[in-house]
Amino acid sequence: MNGAQDYSVALKEALAFIEGHASFLVVSHVQPDGDAISSTVVVAWLLNKLGKTALLVNESTLPSRLSYLHRFDDIQSLKTKPLEGTYDAVIAVDCADYRRIGQVAASFSEGAAILNIDHHPTNDGFGTVNVIRPEAAATVEILYDLIEAAGIPVDLDCAAAIYTGLITDTGGFRYSNTSPRVMVIAAKLLAIGVPGSELADHLLEKMTIGKLKLLQTALSRLTFSDNLEIGWLYITKDDLRECGAVPEDLEGIVNYALNVDGVEVGILFKETEAGQIKASLRSAGKADVAAIAQLFGGGGHVRAAGCTLDGPIEAATDRVVEAVRKALV
Ligand code: 5GP
Ligand code: MN
Repeated sequence: MNGAQDYSVALKEALAFIEGHASFLVVSHVQPDGDAISSTVVVAWLLNKLGKTALLVNESTLPSRLSYLHRFDDIQSLKTKPLEGTYDAVIAVDCADYRRIGQVAASFSEGAAILNIDHHPTNDGFGTVNVIRPEAAATVEILYDLIEAAGIPVDLDCAAAIYTGLITDTGGFRYSNTSPRVMVIAAKLLAIGVPGSELADHLLEKMTIGKLKLLQTALSRLTFSDNLEIGWLYITKDDLRECGAVPEDLEGIVNYALNVDGVEVGILFKETEAGQIKASLRSAGKADVAAIAQLFGGGGHVRAAGCTLDGPIEAATDRVVEAVRKALV
């Protein structure tokens, strides 16, 4: 999508989409992060304000660190309760492509109308209506604009959720997606009363002992290419069990590979319950990791992307590291 005008047209189309239905299924991507869950509850908040009803759902187990969010408890995880019936109107948030919706897509009715709201440049426009804005730091930034376009004042519940999505997707307002606009929105949210330092502490500093043990294990495995441009680590499903950790604890660990001086690409390989290997890639700027992830059917952003490969972990590591090596020459 190009230009401010196209964007405001897309926002109006999104509002018309919402106007055209009474109830919605709201879904975010599998293994949801802070932006995915925040976007889900912000959409729920907006729908409620517009007199609509919503069922909030995600394929995966929900990250309990986000349980303070308004309506978090209303999000149904397929891991604890399957969906019944089929749904005609869907709002997908933070999903770069249809596959990222996961098993929830099996409950869409034939020809279901889908509103696709996302900030990934690799988004393929799978929706009936698409609001795709790669300039946005997070999907919640787009939702902030949508709420503004609807003319609804943001309250503290909504503000805290938008702030959560911004702080998590920008790594605490530090990554290159931290635009002037992000700071302007964040300032408005703080003025509404969002406890910024408390949220930063809770989301970015504090960790469970399980996560710390997982980090120790991952660091003991840290490996570098000969020229130190690529760093990677891996975590098996047994590691998760032995450390008493949960999948959400894997978030951020890849940065330890990236943050070493000289490293251009950091990668975390994690074995899923099904024995597949999820790779999380991060770039210092030289390599486009979204393009690398796309080679393996994944996607994401230039500096942060992901993909899933068949195991075992050694084979997946070889394939991805080789692709990164090629991208760096
Ligand atoms: P993470 O490595 O933290 O899971 O994801 C990094 C970024 O890449 C996020 O923006 C995420 O949405 C995106 N991403 C991760 N895995 C995939 C994938 O398999 N497919 C696509 N299209 N995007 C992904
Ligand atoms: Mn996001």
